[in-house]
Amino acid sequence: MLVSFPGQNNMLVLRSFMILFFSCITIKINLCFPSIPSSLKTLSIDGHFDFEQVEHAAKDFGNRYSYLPLAVLYPKSVSDIATTVNHVWQIGGGSELKVAARGHGHSLQGQAQAHRGVVINMESLQGFKMQVHTGNFPYVDVSGGELWINILRESLKHGLAPKSWTDYLHLTVGGTLSNAGISGQAFRHGPQISNVYQLEVVTGKGQVVNCSEKQNSDLFYSVLGGLGQFGIITRARISLEPAHEMVKWIRMVYTDFATFTRDQEKLISGQSTFDYVEGFVIINRTGLLNNWRSSFNPQDPLQASQFKSDGRTLFCLELAKYFNHEDMVLVNQEVKTSLSQLNHIPSTLFISEVPYMEFLDRVHISEIKLRSRGLWEVPHPWLNLFIPKSKIHSFAQEVFGNILTDTSSGPILIYPVNKSKWDNRTSVVIPEEDVFYLVAFLSSAVPSSTGNDGLEQILIRNKRILDFCEIAGLGVKQYLPHFSTQGEWKSHFGPHWEAFIRRKSTYDPSAILAPGQRIFQKPIAYS
Ligand code: FAD
Repeated sequence: MLVSFPGQNNMLVLRSFMILFFSCITIKINLCFPSIPSSLKTLSIDGHFDFEQVEHAAKDFGNRYSYLPLAVLYPKSVSDIATTVNHVWQIGGGSELKVAARGHGHSLQGQAQAHRGVVINMESLQGFKMQVHTGNFPYVDVSGGELWINILRESLKHGLAPKSWTDYLHLTVGGTLSNAGISGQAFRHGPQISNVYQLEVVTGKGQVVNCSEKQNSDLFYSVLGGLGQFGIITRARISLEPAHEMVKWIRMVYTDFATFTRDQEKLISGQSTFDYVEGFVIINRTGLLNNWRSSFNPQDPLQASQFKSDGRTLFCLELAKYFNHEDMVLVNQEVKTSLSQLNHIPSTLFISEVPYMEFLDRVHISEIKLRSRGLWEVPHPWLNLFIPKSKIHSFAQEVFGNILTDTSSGPILIYPVNKSKWDNRTSVVIPEEDVFYLVAFLSSAVPSSTGNDGLEQILIRNKRILDFCEIAGLGVKQYLPHFSTQGEWKSHFGPHWEAFIRRKSTYDPSAILAPGQRIFQKPIAYS
């Protein structure tokens, strides 16, 4: 069974044990497993391995990293995953064989890839039908490879929906729960990892373990935000709430950053009228409000038509209020009162009403458009940062006022969340302050461009931003992190490094689950 090694001395004991253990296993490999592919072929599973068509598993949304695996497992059952992971564990650390779960492959830097390892295609996991449970505390049981869009469709049949979202729903449960899963609802409900009741996990030894706040809680919290390092999520129980029919979707513009963030912070504190609070930065964009007109109505069309965005740095607040048709009058009044307390430029207030489903699945519409123009499968050098509230002004001054000259490479999201809604027992690393901001630079690089919109220039800009944060000591943490040295990972985890190492040695003792993150290759836990 799994053993916990909390202290440094215990780590040394474990290390000596592992060295011994690995040497025994190396002999075993030589005797019993002349070739890894053929040893995998001997496994009795319901699904199958593919050793030939593996190129797609070496690609992801980031479109910058490509590691060819040895094999892709298409599991039909949880037991297929357990058998495979257990087999790899039996082979032992000496084999250097890694296993990575792949959700929808929307990682940015190879996190769901396994160089010369085994990629488990979670979307082919079958045999478990989504089950919605109604009642006072409704929830849905789903497979780890399920897409959030399918969960929304199914739960809506029961008048229910998950509480916390990502902006884009064509991502898997296992993929977002391994990170955090955040969007404009997080200020109220916390990230998706704060809205899970229970998980079924295949650990690094191939054991199938149920876990929750009450049962095997350390494993439960390790896996949530755990970057796929402690096990593979095969099922999850997600908390639901009553769904709504419609959404009031509102945008407005600010020129002053301090006023913009003051309003954002007011909106996420206490009893907010709104269900969703986000925002974005616009630098030097022409005809911004005109672009909104296809989907939003200006409250003051004449004034709005005279507003000029060209050459300016603007901050757009984005809000949403869910409602049902029968509550329309009340909601209109409530929204009007709340908006009157904000300090945006009055002529820039735009409101739209859309069906609930259309609002939640809004990014998919952009995906379809971008795909049709061949602009979806370009490199995406995204940079996602968590910034403490007390440092957001220094950050904005330098980054929006100096480093960036325009926002033509892609949107820059910025919105605050309440730390009290994040459970500090999970593995995700966030700043220490009660309120912190997500700032997401969602750049798309124009292939073969050497200009500002090319990959090289965007990466230089990202590095300047990171260097500034480091030198200015802003206490920034990366979201969806990727580093290449142990020192960088150690600094990312900060005081949580020891806990990370302990959890890794407990749940993945031969450190086989190393999804593209070189630092997590064994024997990281013991070095
Ligand atoms: P993959 O990329 O396949 O995997 C991601 C990581 O999780 C890998 O380390 C993988 O090994 C691991 N993993 C996958 N499945 C499992 C499993 N079952 N068990 C254990 N580990 C597993 N994130 C947000 O928080 N908010 C957003 O609004 C948001 N918007 C996005 C919009 C777009 C267009 C894209 C491309 C990404 C967005 N993301 C957002 C980031 C997204 O949440 C992560 O990239 C996520 O990892 C992608 O999910 P996936 O299912 O494709 O996972």
